[in-house]
Amino acid sequence: MQTYRSCMICSKCDEKAIISQRNLGLRLCQSHFVEDFEQRVAETIEKNAMVSDGERIAVAVSGGKDSTALLLSLHKVLAGANVELVAITVDEGIAGYRDDTIKAAKEIVGQLKIEHEIVSFREEYGYDLDEMVRGKDVAPCTFCGVFRKSALNRTAKRLKATKVATGHNLDDEVQSIMMNYLKGDIERLMRNRPRRVQPGLIPRIKPLRVIPEKETAIYSMINGVYAESRECPYAQLSLRADVRDMINSLESIFPGTKQSMLQGFEKIAEMAKGKGGQIELGSCRDCKEPCVKDLCKACELLGRLKC
Ligand code: SF4
Ligand SMILES: [Zn+2]
Ligand SMILES: [Zn+2]
Repeated sequence: MQTYRSCMICSKCDEKAIISQRNLGLRLCQSHFVEDFEQRVAETIEKNAMVSDGERIAVAVSGGKDSTALLLSLHKVLAGANVELVAITVDEGIAGYRDDTIKAAKEIVGQLKIEHEIVSFREEYGYDLDEMVRGKDVAPCTFCGVFRKSALNRTAKRLKATKVATGHNLDDEVQSIMMNYLKGDIERLMRNRPRRVQPGLIPRIKPLRVIPEKETAIYSMINGVYAESRECPYAQLSLRADVRDMINSLESIFPGTKQSMLQGFEKIAEMAKGKGGQIELGSCRDCKEPCVKDLCKACELLGRLKC
């Protein structure tokens, strides 16, 4: 009886536990989970000096579980600070998927009374993502990632934001790390390190980067603004889907794998500090966005679409 009861009860009080953090040996009730979640967000912001006094932070809000948890937690953690939040939603144009999440984004941003800018691939680049990839042998996530990043940066500049906050969680981070290892792309891998500020590029912050995806979903649900999780129809076409399944399977056998992977990467990044200087960015000859070559990736892909 004692064993059964201890499985159900919060490690910090006598309330019923709603989550078990197996790698930490903790079970938490709803209020202790929320407290713990927000504390980790606050610690991540502080440890990495993500936010300074007087900043205007553009929060990328898709309306999914991660960005909803990001907006809600930032709104709470930064309450009282001299920091302004604005929300940006990018509509990639994915039929049957984005419409619902954009509606959810409008609702949550409206509830918090935050300024909200919605931009679409169609308005910014002339095509929906569905049109860009229809009938072509291309990876939709590559197009999506490049144009979304560019749209976020352009919009953040228009809104005079000083940082862009994205909802990348622990799962996203370790998937990206593993994908870059698998591709042997060390240059891209090291882009995950904090970077020197570059002209024309609004610095990005990821306040949820130590929080598992499962917990962002629970946090959003507790706040009553996230009901269902529908996966993007293109998600299964990416390497990320295989990497995700592999890491999830390892995590279920060896709890703590995801955290170890992130910590391991951070140690390597620390050792690599100062080695391999950061590339100076120029500006794209077509759109003037910052880029490495004379044409940015978004304009290069746009050129391919017009062929
Ligand atoms: S799964 Fe790929 S195509 Fe779908 S929203 Fe994510 S990056 Fe875009
Ligand atoms: Zn408790
Ligand atoms: Zn360009």
